[in-house]
Amino acid sequence: MARYSDPVCRLCRREGIKLYLKAERCMTAKCAIERRGYAPGQHGQTRPKFSEYGIQLREKQKLRRVYGVLERQFQRYFDISSRKKGVTGEYLLSLLERRIDNVVYRLGMAGSRSAARQLVLHNHFRVNGKKVNIPSYLVKPGDVISPSPSKMNKEPIKKALEGMNEKKLPHWLAFDIEKKQGLVQAMPTREDINIPVQEQLVVEHYSR
Ligand code: SF4
Repeated sequence: MARYSDPVCRLCRREGIKLYLKAERCMTAKCAIERRGYAPGQHGQTRPKFSEYGIQLREKQKLRRVYGVLERQFQRYFDISSRKKGVTGEYLLSLLERRIDNVVYRLGMAGSRSAARQLVLHNHFRVNGKKVNIPSYLVKPGDVISPSPSKMNKEPIKKALEGMNEKKLPHWLAFDIEKKQGLVQAMPTREDINIPVQEQLVVEHYSR
């Protein structure tokens, strides 16, 4: 599947906020938002006037880019969410949050969602003891996520396990340091998702 392969910092600059796509660099003064906090391109420094549609579009793009999901799949998530009872936007966020690449990132096993995606693709994780190498795999309460035994001593996993004590996890996730495994304790709720996005605008975008 085609992936976005241009510099990812442009995405943050386009949305005007840090999307944290580059692990450690995002926390330093080298972050492009810190150095050039305006949109990329020739007219990036002129203040844009967004229409209602433009505002909804930007919100949708922001959310899609945070989770690194392509348009078609994002639309599919929306379709699933819109068929569920309850608040569509909140269900959409919950679906995105339950992706295994996001869970690996939230557990602190990778510095960014894209790094987590790579680890998942390269067979670094198991769910309930079974190999999972599909980043869009959705976890559910009761699932146990553990590094594959053969990858336990590989650099990114080893480093992440060493620093696990200091990590603050969202309340729907837990990590057992002894057993070296994460547990999905509950479904993520809106309060657990600290992404500055107005999901209602995303719903309005797709409902036009
Ligand atoms: Fe975004 Fe991180 Fe690049 Fe900063 S360093 S612009 S937060 S991807």
